[in-house]
Amino acid sequence: MAGLDVDGLERWLRIYAASVAEHQEELTSLDAAIGDADHGANMHRGMAAVVDGLAATPPADPAALFKQTGMVLIRTVGGTSGPLYGTLFLRMASAVGGETTLGPETFAKALRAGVEGLVARGKTELGDKTLYDALGPALDALDASLGDGEPLRAALRAASRAADAGRDATTPMTARKGRASYLGERSVGHQDPGATSAALLVAAAASATDEAAAEGA
Ligand code: ADP
Ligand code: MG
Repeated sequence: MAGLDVDGLERWLRIYAASVAEHQEELTSLDAAIGDADHGANMHRGMAAVVDGLAATPPADPAALFKQTGMVLIRTVGGTSGPLYGTLFLRMASAVGGETTLGPETFAKALRAGVEGLVARGKTELGDKTLYDALGPALDALDASLGDGEPLRAALRAASRAADAGRDATTPMTARKGRASYLGERSVGHQDPGATSAALLVAAAASATDEAAAEGA
C-alpha cells in the first residue's frame, strides 16, 4: 500500500465513528467516574456529524477532509475534548498541504503535528491523565516502526498497541488537567475517558489500513 488517499482517510474516520458508537456507553461510564458522564455522548454526536458531512460535502483531498473534520468536531463535540480533537485535525490539515496520497512518513508527521497542536492547546504533558497519554506513546511507536522499515499497516498496529498500553497506564495516575483534576487523589484507580477514545482513534487507523490491504489497495 503506497499510503492513504482521501478514500483511505475517510475509511479511518468512518471506522472511528462506528467504534465510538459501539463504545459510547463505556466512554460515558468512565467519564461518570471522574468527570460529568458526557464523553461518550459528546464523541458520538461529533463523529456522527463528521460522517454526515462526508456524504453532504465530499472532500477533494486529505487537507480538505481533515479541515472539515476538525471544524465539525469543534462545532459539535463540545466539552473540553471537542476543541482538542478539533485542533488535532486542523493541524493535520495544515501539515499535509496539497498532497493527495499520504505516504507513511507524511501521515506520521501530520499526526505528530496534530498531537503537538492538541498538547499546546490543552497545555498538557505526559502523565496528566489525558488524551495525550495514549497519543504520545502511539506516535513514538509509529515513528520507531517506520524507522525499522515496517510498512504503514504494521506500524499502525504497533502504534495501536502502544496507545492501548498508554490508556491502561492512565488508571493509576492522578489527573492534573480537566474536570478529573478537581478530584485530585480520588481520580486514581480510574481509566481516563479521553485516553480511551484516543486509543480507539489509533486502532481505527490500523483497521483502515488492514481493510485497504484486504481489498488490495
Ligand atoms: P469535559 O471534561 O468538558 O466534560 P469530555 O468529557 O468530552 O469533556 O472530555 C474529557 C477528557 O478530556 C478527559 O478524559 C481528558 O482525557 C481530556 N482532557 C481534559 N483536559 C485536557 C487537557 N487540558 N489536555 C488534554 N486533554 C484533556
Ligand atoms: Mg465530560
